[in-house]
Amino acid sequence: MIYLDNNATTAVAKEVLDEMLPYLSGEYANPSSMYDFAKKPAAAIREARVKVRDFFGAKDEKEIFFTSCGSESANMAIKGVLNCNKEKRHIITTKVEHPCVLNTYKWFEKQGYEVDYIGVNAQGELDVEELKNKLRKDTALVSVMWANNETGVIHPVEEIAEYVKSHSPETRVFVDGVQAGGKIPLNVKETKIDLVGVSGHKFHAPKGIGALYVKPDVRLTPLINGGHQERGMRAGTENVPYIVGLGKAAELAMENMNHELTEVKRLRDKLEAGILKSVFNARLNTGITNRVPNTSNIGFEYVEGELILLHLSDIGVCASSGSACTSGSLEPSHVLRAMGIPFTALHGSIRFSLSRYNTEKEVDYVIENMPAIMDKLTKISPFQTELEELRERKGF
Ligand code: PLP
Repeated sequence: MIYLDNNATTAVAKEVLDEMLPYLSGEYANPSSMYDFAKKPAAAIREARVKVRDFFGAKDEKEIFFTSCGSESANMAIKGVLNCNKEKRHIITTKVEHPCVLNTYKWFEKQGYEVDYIGVNAQGELDVEELKNKLRKDTALVSVMWANNETGVIHPVEEIAEYVKSHSPETRVFVDGVQAGGKIPLNVKETKIDLVGVSGHKFHAPKGIGALYVKPDVRLTPLINGGHQERGMRAGTENVPYIVGLGKAAELAMENMNHELTEVKRLRDKLEAGILKSVFNARLNTGITNRVPNTSNIGFEYVEGELILLHLSDIGVCASSGSACTSGSLEPSHVLRAMGIPFTALHGSIRFSLSRYNTEKEVDYVIENMPAIMDKLTKISPFQTELEELRERKGF
């Protein structure tokens, strides 16, 4: 099996599992208890928080809150900020956010909020000028994802936060960092960003654990009320093993950052170049360099994405069309539509997303097998005339 769907989820690193196991068996004490038996889990949470602080590049571990996933981090940030600032009823976000952000704003629209959705160009780059023009005195929140899950495009969130704070200091800036965490350094203390959410299962921790970075002066209401855990901001007995796993995954991600930025990128670039060279109906949906190093989104013109995925699956390759949350529906991706990807490629677009566990051999295997798959699929496509024209135009 060749796993090239690491933006959907990742394998739990062995080192992560090993660190978690004691807290799933013998070390089961509630970390809030008074006896000595609770000291080890309580200390393990403290250590994990320090590691996650460093992963974010934050100043203080008090700025880190553990959550259950990226969706919870986004909801905690958005609902928490808006609940604390009820006079301001305007929100700016983008057309290419993940559904956990977009659908939260749709909900706020129903409550009477006004939301501006900023567009992207054909390469998936955000229209930052449009965003700046939409900023108002009553803008409560500006919300831009750090990296897009489908294209890997990195948005200039640091520049956006600078602009927002210098023109409207009270406006909060939330960044969904789920696809950036572990792929590029975050270094939030050097930025004016107020809140950043991440999700452990995107960087080799298990599913069911995430974190939210919150700058000290940001006021939030909790999403989950109850006990004192997470300093009253997220009640519920701490998920000690998963918090420990997140800490270890964060540490490993920092250790492997250089590898991610060089070796993973080299394999991604090789995969892209190999497919574009050998498959006449392949087009890069975005080829900009300012992308996370592991992600490639390739459109295969005049063929159906689901069929490509099934054929890839038959040869043991896992990839995806659209995000995991939208695949399963035949709706083309809202991200690719926002980019204006031509309909001829929209339905046949495939996302390959690598991790540090992928090898050169695996990439070579996909490059070698892609032409035969495309040969089969183009033969059964109803667009034979268009395909012939394309083949000639591309000189195949
Ligand atoms: N944000 C982005 C950009 C994502 O890609 C995802 C998951 O794919 C999420 C948020 C949601 O994360 P989770 O599945 O941990 O809730």
